[in-house]
Amino acid sequence: MKIIMLGAPGAGKGTQAKKIAAKYGIPHISTGDIFRANIKNGTELGKKAKTFMDQGLLVPDELTCDLVVDRIQQPDAANGYVLDGFPRTIPQAECLTAALAKLGSKMDYAINVDVPDENIVTRMGGRRACLKCGATYHIVYAAPKAEGICDTCGEALVLREDDKPETVQKRLNVYHDQTQPLIDYYTKEGILKSVDGTKALEEVFQDIVAILGE
Ligand code: AMP
Repeated sequence: MKIIMLGAPGAGKGTQAKKIAAKYGIPHISTGDIFRANIKNGTELGKKAKTFMDQGLLVPDELTCDLVVDRIQQPDAANGYVLDGFPRTIPQAECLTAALAKLGSKMDYAINVDVPDENIVTRMGGRRACLKCGATYHIVYAAPKAEGICDTCGEALVLREDDKPETVQKRLNVYHDQTQPLIDYYTKEGILKSVDGTKALEEVFQDIVAILGE
């Protein structure tokens, strides 16, 4: 099963993507996580990506697309995957469709986790991330067991640079300009499904499972 997660930054698509990956036994492929890992390891790609990410801007399509096309051909992705944070622009979606067509394949579902803008800014201010293992939390909706400490690896949690309020508004503008058109794109492809992302995390997941099947 090949799934794309769509939705504004902070809509909860990453959390849902991880749950989908665990339930269906497919890899969770997050371009944001891949970029952050590259930044942490000081790679050339990481250096290039960081300048865009810190400003709330998108990393250029060429850098992003090649990375994903390579990743989805790894052996662990043979039975499907869930893409989180990719595609984020029409050229990225076209690149993905073309790459899959070459492989004789196509996406099965694009799931749009729908949350209005007014909820987003509040949500993102409460996000906390572990920069060591990539786990994400929310101080209200998904709090760690011990305040400020990662449940998985014990590292101190931080508010990511790009989750700070001044950057969030910019990311939302970028989302509306460049990513929202994908909703039309995948509606035309006939694979778009929307879920109400304002519901509780588990309810949203059950709505997704109802779409994907048990
Ligand atoms: P995320 O963790 O998905 O919210 O991504 C964090 C940041 O990484 C974004 O604000 C972008 O700067 C960058 N990024 C992640 N995925 C993409 C993508 N598909 N295209 C361009 N930039 C991306």
